[in-house]
Amino acid sequence: MKITNVSVIGAGTMGNGIAHVFAQYGYQVVLIDASELALESGIKNIEKNIDRQIHKNQLEADQKELILARIKPSNQVRSGVSSADLVIEAATEKFDIKSLIFKEIDTHAPNRAILATNTSSISITKIAAKTQRPDRVVGMHFMNPVPIMKLVEVIKGYGTSPQTLNTIFQTAKDIGKIAIEVNDYPGFIANRILLPMINEAIFSLFEAVAKVKDIDAIMKLGMGHPMGPLQLADFIGLDVCLSIMRVLHDGLGDDKYRPCPLLVNMVAAGHLGVKTGKGFYTYISGTKEFEVSPQFQ
Ligand code: NAD
Repeated sequence: MKITNVSVIGAGTMGNGIAHVFAQYGYQVVLIDASELALESGIKNIEKNIDRQIHKNQLEADQKELILARIKPSNQVRSGVSSADLVIEAATEKFDIKSLIFKEIDTHAPNRAILATNTSSISITKIAAKTQRPDRVVGMHFMNPVPIMKLVEVIKGYGTSPQTLNTIFQTAKDIGKIAIEVNDYPGFIANRILLPMINEAIFSLFEAVAKVKDIDAIMKLGMGHPMGPLQLADFIGLDVCLSIMRVLHDGLGDDKYRPCPLLVNMVAAGHLGVKTGKGFYTYISGTKEFEVSPQFQ
């Protein structure tokens, strides 16, 4: 099946990046979010990222208006998915939220449409069971920032059909990404390996083994990581990190996946990282500047 119309649900960190990339490659995109504010800031973020691509000579300046014209913002799932060939859900990492969204898109998206989720860790099979088309439900796990990162982890649910996988592999290629298939187990591959490392970095801080900057510097200088694990946690969103650790802990039943109590407390306090301006570091709005948060100095 040829994909032409794509609906993206959730205009947050990931959703606006996914909408941007599909529009850049010529697809018609509907970007849907329940929050008007999130839609507005999602579109602003796309504009900012297009400007950055133009500045780096990765895009011609005249592409900006063309790309933006292909993205239609909407606050309605029902009408927003009605002509979709592919729906990609990138809403909050909570099973209850995703399960309601999948019931709704299954009712309103055309029968031919493939329903994908960008979940970081939740079972594709469990999400697919909320629909009448488990053969056309798949995990399409983009990496952050979407316009830059090449990988799409493609997760095959228990009922995902080979045709659905073929279409998703071809679509990923058509938008300049590299798809890699994995089976449906908690955290898949990317986050089963990445998140325990981040959680361990937070435990190291919690147990006062080293300070924020030093933990990050050790992993950058010693392991060649482009970003330290605490800064990366801020970038991913501490709420997203906590949700993924909980899925790993519940799903694999091993206490080595228990989330660090400091992570739990920071999320309870609303210190979610870059998106709220406060996490392990404090970010100065509208600039690239940041410093270690006062709690950790
Ligand atoms: P986010 O918090 O930045 O954005 C989520 C958006 O979903 C919000 O704008 C919210 O208003 C919207 N939303 C919530 N319920 C909705 C509903 N019922 N209908 C429409 N919109 C709704 O989250 P994010 O970081 O973009 O994560 C989105 C998904 O992508 C999650 O499943 C997450 O695990 C996954 N993911 C995140 C990252 C990352 O680095 N942040 C990387 C890969 C995958």
